Amino acid sequence: MTTTEVPAAQAARPEVARLDALIDEILGRHDTASTESRVIWGEMFDAGLAWVHFPEGRGGLGLDAEYQEYVDGRFHEAGVESNIRFNMMGVGMAGPTLVACGTEAQQEEHLRRIYTCDDIWCQMFSEPGAGSDVAGLSTRAVRDGDEWIVNGQKVWTTQAHVAAKGLLLVRTDPDAPKHKGLSYFWIDMHSPGVDVRPLRQLTGAAEFNEIYFTDVRVPDTNRIGDVGAGWNVAITTLMNERTMLGKLADPSRAPDLGAYAVDLWRQRGLDDAVLRDKLMRVWVDDYVVRLLMQRPSRTARSVRPVRRARSGRSPCRRNSNARTGSVWISSGPREC
Ligand SMILES: Cc1cc2nc3c(=O)[nH]c(=O)nc-3n(C[C@H](O)[C@H](O)[C@H](O)COP(=O)(O)OP(=O)(O)OC[C@H]3O[C@@H](n4cnc5c(N)ncnc54)[C@H](O)[C@@H]3O)c2cc1C
Repeated sequence: MTTTEVPAAQAARPEVARLDALIDEILGRHDTASTESRVIWGEMFDAGLAWVHFPEGRGGLGLDAEYQEYVDGRFHEAGVESNIRFNMMGVGMAGPTLVACGTEAQQEEHLRRIYTCDDIWCQMFSEPGAGSDVAGLSTRAVRDGDEWIVNGQKVWTTQAHVAAKGLLLVRTDPDAPKHKGLSYFWIDMHSPGVDVRPLRQLTGAAEFNEIYFTDVRVPDTNRIGDVGAGWNVAITTLMNERTMLGKLADPSRAPDLGAYAVDLWRQRGLDDAVLRDKLMRVWVDDYVVRLLMQRPSRTARSVRPVRRARSGRSPCRRNSNARTGSVWISSGPREC
C-alpha cells in the first residue's frame, strides 16, 4: 500500500474528503516544480496540514495523527519535498514538544517558522558523561532574576552548526533526585557564550557537534514546562523522536536508497552476477533498516489533539496502551 492508498473504510470518512479539498486548493495554486518548497510548507501550516493532529491555528486540524501519512503522501506525489529532511529536530521533536508542554506565546512564536524551516532546531540532551543515562546530566542552570545562567557541555548534537534554536535539558536543582532536578528550555543558538564545535567524522562530513556553554543567559520565558519538570518534557520529546525516526524510513520523507541503487543498475544496463548479488544485499539491508525504523512509529503515537487550557499552557497527559505497549500524549490534565 502506498502512502496515499487508504483502506476503503478510512477513504469513506469525511475527514479524507476535507483533507483532499484543502490539499487540492494548495496544489491548484502552485506549480510545484517552480514553487519554492517553503512557500508550500507555509500554506500547509496555515491550512492545518502541517501536523494534522495539532489544534487548529497551530498547524493542525485536531484530527487523528494517522491522517498525516495520507497528507504527506499526496504532497510527495505532487513533487513537494518533505521538510523533515531539513529540520528533523524541529518538525519531529520541537513542534510536538511545544504543543504538548509549551506556552501559547512559545507556540505562536515558533511553530510556523519550524514548519517552513525558517528556523532549524537541534536537541541538546546528551553530554560526555550522560548518554543512555541522560537524567544524570550535569550542565547547570542557575536562576538570576528573570533569567537563568547556563554553564556546561553537550555532545553529539546533530545539526547544531546550522541551528538557530535548540531544545536544552539542564540541571536546575542538584540536591533533588536526578530525574526531579531537571528543567527544560529552548535557547537561541546565537546567544553570547554558546560555542558550537563540529565533530569531523571519518567520512569527512561534520553532522554532529559539541557545544560549550559559558555563562549563557536564558530568559525564564524560554522555559518549557515547570521548574523541575524537565524530565517529563524530555520524555515527550523522546517519544516524538521515536515516531519521527520511523517516518524517516518512509520514501515520501527520505530518499529510498534501495530503489535508487536498483534504478542506477537499470539505467547503466548492468548484467554482472556478482554485482547483482551485491545490489540485492544493499536492497535487502535498506529494506530491513526501514522496517526496523518503522516499528517504533507504528507502535507509538505522538502528540494527539489538544484543547486549549485557560492558563495559556496546553494541557497534556501521557497515556499508555497495555495491549500494544504504545505511549502517547493526549488531551487531559497537564503533566509537563
Ligand atoms: C547518529 C547520532 C545522532 C545523535 N544526535 C543527538 C542529538 O542531536 N542530541 C542529543 O542530545 N544526543 C544525540 N545523540 C546521542 C545519543 O542520544 C547517545 O549516543 C545515546 O544516548 C547513547 O549514549 P552514549 O553514546 O554516551 O553511550 P553510553 O550511554 O555510554 O552507552 C555505551 C554502551 O553501553 C551500553 N549501556 C549503557 N548503559 C547501560 C546499562 N545500564 N546496562 C547495560 N548496558 C548499558 C549501551 O547500550 C551502549 O552499548 C546522537 C547519537 C547518534 C549515534
